[in-house]
Amino acid sequence: MEDPQDELRQPVYYCRNCHSLFIIIDEMLASDDWDGSYCGKCSSADIGVCTLGEWLEEEERRRKKREEIEWNR
Ligand SMILES: [Zn+2]
Repeated sequence: MEDPQDELRQPVYYCRNCHSLFIIIDEMLASDDWDGSYCGKCSSADIGVCTLGEWLEEEERRRKKREEIEWNR
């Protein structure tokens, strides 16, 4: 059985622009200062890495923010 805490410590790549985990790595595009990874959602090449736990926390913050915006409309 897998420890869910362990899973939260797994590193994930995410898009710094839209926070998607849908990252495509195209080694054909890679250059000296870029590994060819980009966001499959918004095409941003600004990719960050964090743990899954940190990503989920940030996702929750973003979801709340979106809801606040909708309530204030
Ligand atoms: Zn993106």
